[in-house]
Amino acid sequence: AQSRYAGLRDQPARSVCGTRVELHMNAGLMADLPSLENSGAEGVGLFRTELQFLTRTRVPRRSELVALYTRVMDAAKGRPVVFRTVDIGSDKVLPYMKPQDEPNPAMGWRAIRVGLDKRGVLRMQLQSLIRAAAGRPLHVMFPFVAEPSEFREAQKMLMEELAREQQFGRPLPLDIRVGSMLETPSLAFAPVSFFRACDFVSIGGNDLKQFFFAADRENERVRRRYDTLSEPFLSLLDQIIARCEAAGVSLSFCGEDAGRPVEALTFAALGIRRLSMRPASIGPVKHLIRSISIRDLREVVDQARADGQPVRRAVTEFLARNGGP
Ligand code: PEP
Ligand code: MG
Repeated sequence: AQSRYAGLRDQPARSVCGTRVELHMNAGLMADLPSLENSGAEGVGLFRTELQFLTRTRVPRRSELVALYTRVMDAAKGRPVVFRTVDIGSDKVLPYMKPQDEPNPAMGWRAIRVGLDKRGVLRMQLQSLIRAAAGRPLHVMFPFVAEPSEFREAQKMLMEELAREQQFGRPLPLDIRVGSMLETPSLAFAPVSFFRACDFVSIGGNDLKQFFFAADRENERVRRRYDTLSEPFLSLLDQIIARCEAAGVSLSFCGEDAGRPVEALTFAALGIRRLSMRPASIGPVKHLIRSISIRDLREVVDQARADGQPVRRAVTEFLARNGGP
């Protein structure tokens, strides 16, 4: 399927009305990186660093992490890579970590909660990222932030590690951008000051939806039961977009829905202008963006919402009239 879109690889995702949408890819292993060239992604919008922890039998050493992150950045050839710090716990259990035996691990001791309570691993990871990015830009993103203080604390840890590297006279990253994932409904309603404190925000739609609809993403009976494009979820997205716009912070969407054409185009119409998805989705989504006017699609979405009509149907019909999907 990728070859069908090969001609678009070096073309921008610009809609007929001139709206530019950035398309990035999700990755987590070295093996994913060749897709950066083939898919035409503008960068890695989400690098899930825990995958490299999951494929080992012991905690990786700092030197191994430095080497790994250096290779990732080398392979990206100057394109941005957003490194998400480890999201362990929940469904991702490390073979060398004591099982926590939690009744609801997805809502339990995971991600930034572990990082802030047991600081060793997060600290080592931040040091490794700083060293690997010496002399070039570094993008770090913290997972599963549920309230602003967690972001502030994690950001402080990163700044402490930077200061330490500087004291030792080691070369520093050229520029550091620190972002937060938004995957709990609480954070969508955080004060604008939180959004101002972030260099970027990325919606983790897989978790955000699971907690918004109270529907386990691992449970086949319920995982596809609720529509991302239903009014409640669109209203939630409106809240997030409005706060990001008020704060002047860049917003992306990096859950699986970003790679689904109808969802992706609707997000772009609502105002989310950076999407990160599996590499194979980039060609089809780019083709659609280039075929339609996002401004016209926005009108279609607003009209359907005003009339109480299903947005999914309205968008699907609009896309069919305009040559896809
Ligand atoms: C998400 O929750 O949407 C996300 C991108 O993170 P993960 O799928 O790794 O939980
Ligand atoms: Mg998540």
